[in-house]
Amino acid sequence: MRRAAQMVPYYSRLFAERGWDPQQAEKYWPKWPVLSQQMLQERRDELVAKDVEKSNLRLGASGGSTGHNKTFYHGREYGQSKAAAVTHSDTIAGWKPGHRIALLWGAPPRVLSTVRPLSPPPPLRSLRKNQRLYNSYDMSEARKGEYHLKLSRYRPDIIIAYAGAVFEMARFLKSNRLCPDYPSKSIISSAETLSEPMRLQIDEVFGKPIFNRYGSWEVGLMGFECEAHTGLHMAFTHNLIEVVNPGSLEPIWDQQGDILVTTLGEPDCPLIRYQIGDVGIMTRRLCSCGRNSLRLREVSGREMDFISTPGGGRIHGAFGLSAFYGIEKVRQFQVVQRKLDRIDVRLVLAAALSKDEEARIRSVFRERLGPDVAFQIRIVDRIDPLPSGKRAFLVSELQ
Ligand SMILES: [Zn+2]
Repeated sequence: MRRAAQMVPYYSRLFAERGWDPQQAEKYWPKWPVLSQQMLQERRDELVAKDVEKSNLRLGASGGSTGHNKTFYHGREYGQSKAAAVTHSDTIAGWKPGHRIALLWGAPPRVLSTVRPLSPPPPLRSLRKNQRLYNSYDMSEARKGEYHLKLSRYRPDIIIAYAGAVFEMARFLKSNRLCPDYPSKSIISSAETLSEPMRLQIDEVFGKPIFNRYGSWEVGLMGFECEAHTGLHMAFTHNLIEVVNPGSLEPIWDQQGDILVTTLGEPDCPLIRYQIGDVGIMTRRLCSCGRNSLRLREVSGREMDFISTPGGGRIHGAFGLSAFYGIEKVRQFQVVQRKLDRIDVRLVLAAALSKDEEARIRSVFRERLGPDVAFQIRIVDRIDPLPSGKRAFLVSELQ
């Protein structure tokens, strides 16, 4: 914080304006302003410390859940700090050096400009890390079949996957009555919200422990599950996480609030109390595993994971999963909020739904959405991932 107050133009100006003493920066923590996503875009270059050569930075980009591009810098120490945090949590998920890893993942984040590459190119890196990439952007029925054959031969110890991608894979395997004999250790799920129905389905098909994880392109790993699977331990060597009341910015415990992130492994371009756009519940109660870090009991999804209702209510989009659970004919689905009072439910079907199945889906939606929201079931041939490559179960067209 002292370094930020003295060396980072955005923060040194803020300190000057408020008459704060940079030598005692930590004293002002309770009053330290939140950095919004919009501020990160507008002030991106002012968030780089004065003593850092821009050529030593990497400019990263992320589509985010809105499909709008965000750009941000990563400094010289970021990669190592992130790798340390990830290795720590991989180890807790059963990883050991030499294990085979299958990544069911999108392409790595686009690096917009690098003067000097900071790490070996992806193919070399994969070889060194003993991992293979299966592109989760491309998951047609044929491709899923091909992945199953390849994975059966490769026999990974660990699968690291977008939550939605491994869920799709599980649905595919189950509906084709295929029993995977991989992975041998565990599944690490990340990048998207892993809801309880998704976890049940993945568990049923693969029968191996699932370790949920929470991270983002801007700040890397923020939380990870341990063997107890009761919430996400804070990745405290890499990021400090707070959950605050959205109005007062006071920390709140055991109830939902906005997630703020402070990067600890990023002295070149620190983000302090960055409002990442997610909500969660933080608890101080100790985990049964004995690790005494704070835990996020729940990350209830991104801003976009909610359906808004005319009465001002917000319904988490994952409820859609429960409507389709156990209906094998539903290959893929997406809930699209067209207007405040209009929802489209897009379905990709393997065969026509029976009257009972359709009635069950309708009753779940009717019950959750209430009487003020009209919804329509639309049968489609395919549902493409968002520009970011993520598979969104919920798309909002509201502004
Ligand atoms: Zn634990």
